[in-house]
Amino acid sequence: MKVNFYTSQREYNEKKAEFDKAIFDVIEKGSFILGPNVTKFEEEIKNYTGAKHAIGVASGTDALVIASHILGFTDGKEVITSPFTFLASTSCIAKHNAKPVFVDIDEETFEINTSKLEEKITSNTAGIIPIHLFSQMNNMDKIMEIASKNDLRVLEDAAEAFGMRWKGNGDSYKHSGTIGDFGIFSFFPTKTLGAYGDGGMIVTNNDDLAQKTKMFRVHGASKKYHYDYIGYNSRLDSIQAAVLSVKLKYIDEAIKKRETIANWYMDKLSDCEYVRFPKIKGDQKPVYYVFNILAEKRDELADFLKENEIGYSIYYPIPLHLQKCFSYLGHKKGDFPVSEKISSEILALPIYPEITEEEVDFVCETIKKFYRK
Ligand SMILES: *Cc1c(COP(=O)(O)O)cnc(C)c1O
Repeated sequence: MKVNFYTSQREYNEKKAEFDKAIFDVIEKGSFILGPNVTKFEEEIKNYTGAKHAIGVASGTDALVIASHILGFTDGKEVITSPFTFLASTSCIAKHNAKPVFVDIDEETFEINTSKLEEKITSNTAGIIPIHLFSQMNNMDKIMEIASKNDLRVLEDAAEAFGMRWKGNGDSYKHSGTIGDFGIFSFFPTKTLGAYGDGGMIVTNNDDLAQKTKMFRVHGASKKYHYDYIGYNSRLDSIQAAVLSVKLKYIDEAIKKRETIANWYMDKLSDCEYVRFPKIKGDQKPVYYVFNILAEKRDELADFLKENEIGYSIYYPIPLHLQKCFSYLGHKKGDFPVSEKISSEILALPIYPEITEEEVDFVCETIKKFYRK
């Protein structure tokens, strides 16, 4: 049996008529740049997340770069983040010559270790970028407390965290991305809410930051051909917005299915002593964007899965402090031991709403077969 790590085709085939209509409507109307589809989707994101403002941009990466720029993560300022993440969470700091300052992660949840965060704050620190990775949010109470005590700006990298909520399911919950000064989402196709191409969103509850963001995505223009800032050309594409509006209608159902699949994995692998699961901590509602295991002999297991036509992924094989592009920061192996250890053990298994229980069974049986060898 072949099991894809990810496929968009099953969902597309299930809802083909709806997706086709959404896409062709945009083409027929001919409003391609920041037209009604983008505005409609931004309204829907505001309603879903509770954010006061939602501004569609070209990708999650652009969202991080623009938000960092506006928050003044520039010119020698220091910004605290974790090295165990996707490149874009840190390249947005370096892009305008601010300095990434890394803090290691919690061994069980992979979030930034907030007990080690304050010792890295200097008079030059401008902000914190917490990253809500895989299936759970950072401890936002603690981060906001540290930020307010030290007058720091907070940019939540919620690229992977669509649907995740701090304070769980209670009435007073806050959606990921809506707690800091800015939050960003990515609509990269594999993400929980994924487009048929690139896309991203910046959310904020601050009117001034929102106004500036709207200017920054159109070259810094306050009105047509009047440029207040040197900005960007970075808009959420209208066709992608139309696709995303369709997907958002079904997102709660999709999130529930991801949870069911994660439970299948945890159940079916519970008797496998060579595999551990990350923990979810704090009062929050997790969303299984990724389902990870921590595996003994990870690389050999990965090869075995490949031989058996099972897709997998490794997020992330090399922590950012050891990447060539950040060698100028002067870090070496051993500087962030938890990140380095997790990088060598972590393995992501296929999880998408359309995967079948039979496929999950096959993945789990294959893993157990590997350790019986
Ligand atoms: C996907 C991702 C991004 C970047 O999003 P793109 O839309 O691919 O540019 C940033 N940060 C994290 C943690 C991500 O997973």
